[in-house]
Amino acid sequence: MSLAVSRGLNVAVPLLFESTLPQLCGTRCEPHRFGECCVNGRLGGLQRTESIGLPELSEPQVMRHYVTLSSKNYSIDTGIYPLGSCTMKYNPRVNEKVARLDGLANIHPNQPEGTVQGILQVMYELGEALKTITGMPEITLAPAAGSHGELTGLMAMKTAMMHRGEHGRNIIIVPESAHGTNPASAVMCGFKVVSVQANKEGTVDMDAFKAILEKYEGKVAGMMLTNPNTLGIFESEIKNMADLIHEQGGYFYMDGANLNALMGNALVHDFGVDAMHINLHKTFSTPHGGGGPGAGPVVFSELLAPYCPMPKVVKNPDGTYHLMEEDEAPETSLGRVKGFAGQVGIMIRALAYIMALGGEGITQSSRDAILNANYLQHQLMEGGVSAPFGDTNCLHECVMSDHHLKGTSVTTMDIAKGLLDEGHHPPTVYFPLVVSGAMLIEPTESEPITSLDGFAKSVVGLAQKAHAAEADVAEMHATPMHTPVRRCDEAGAARKPILKWKPE
Ligand SMILES: *Cc1c(COP(=O)(O)O)cnc(C)c1O
Repeated sequence: MSLAVSRGLNVAVPLLFESTLPQLCGTRCEPHRFGECCVNGRLGGLQRTESIGLPELSEPQVMRHYVTLSSKNYSIDTGIYPLGSCTMKYNPRVNEKVARLDGLANIHPNQPEGTVQGILQVMYELGEALKTITGMPEITLAPAAGSHGELTGLMAMKTAMMHRGEHGRNIIIVPESAHGTNPASAVMCGFKVVSVQANKEGTVDMDAFKAILEKYEGKVAGMMLTNPNTLGIFESEIKNMADLIHEQGGYFYMDGANLNALMGNALVHDFGVDAMHINLHKTFSTPHGGGGPGAGPVVFSELLAPYCPMPKVVKNPDGTYHLMEEDEAPETSLGRVKGFAGQVGIMIRALAYIMALGGEGITQSSRDAILNANYLQHQLMEGGVSAPFGDTNCLHECVMSDHHLKGTSVTTMDIAKGLLDEGHHPPTVYFPLVVSGAMLIEPTESEPITSLDGFAKSVVGLAQKAHAAEADVAEMHATPMHTPVRRCDEAGAARKPILKWKPE
């Protein structure tokens, strides 16, 4: 990895610790306030004897440091962010405005119920809206993320089986192309994962699926299926799969992270789904990424509704709202999965988004997301980029492979790094694993045609350059040239993160 250098006005930013100038200070403290007499007695002799080692800087240095860093933040507000499976779409500012309203932002979960009727109504109405969008009869808003929703749904399945007195079912069927959180959640919940392969159309191979059901008869607790799947393709056999799972006494979980491709156009309830999480931070437009908060409400079918976790907002006959806790819950409820009532700030944004769009807008937004992804897939294919499932229309995202790079030394990683120099955030790469050198591209409905064209032009340009003269190709391996840091050791950063600055 090359060190950061300043170029033009792209200023390299050292850590505050590295910028320290001994004796420089942004504030003045009266020395005697921290003197012996006050501290010693109170700390029982445990006071620090060495310097704390904080950086010594002036106020303008600190200001410049953070303001410069903030301008380096690439985000959906600066350009296209086509990360497949992540739904990085524009987050309307009105959502933020509503979430910051005094009566919603400055309340505490321990306040008496009579003083927080507004937020309870927000939660109730969000729950009703999501039930309408999915056609499902029950919902919990508590889970803090999609993956937490998966765990919650699986816990409901497990609780239901315990109530039936069935303890022997421990298999969850998961397609090979699934998001990594699916098998991880199943294992966390104590299940064993059996993976089912895809056919050449990119959907679940029904023969392989039936063979698994037969092999593990009486052992299958359920199936987890993403629809549309992580290749952006609709699993048209979903109802058949759900019926077969139900016949065998199992439950059907749908990973609903891709609900933005269905909402308003299909009802999840019609697919035979028993539980599904909804990523509010993806589908319903909350800023996410970088580990910010999310919310993963789970909708339940009639079969799993009795096991719904608490708390839950109910509407009293007099029109007021009540947060029902575990002590009032039906005995079957699986209990509690999150402190207090969940990520309430995200719920406010989601309801603001749903209300701003309305039923028609929600439907149109998923159609536009599908149109944009198909347009992009078509542009890329025309430019010679291979689309392994290009014969069929995709839904909200499309997957490209590295087939077109065969015979060159250029990889998908080189294309992704080259995109950085052209000013685009690269798509998701090398996922799903079932596609060689995959690029999973989700433009979302909020990209205008000009940005789709600009992105496609850059990808096609790079793909063509891969077949050019050796000197040009060598250049591609050296990209990105214009970012503050060049090629990073991503695996090293994930496996052996250095989280603490140490003096040289
Ligand atoms: C994002 C995503 C998840 C996990 O959701 P988090 O909110 O990040 O935990 C699960 N499945 C799919 C298909 C996703 O895209």
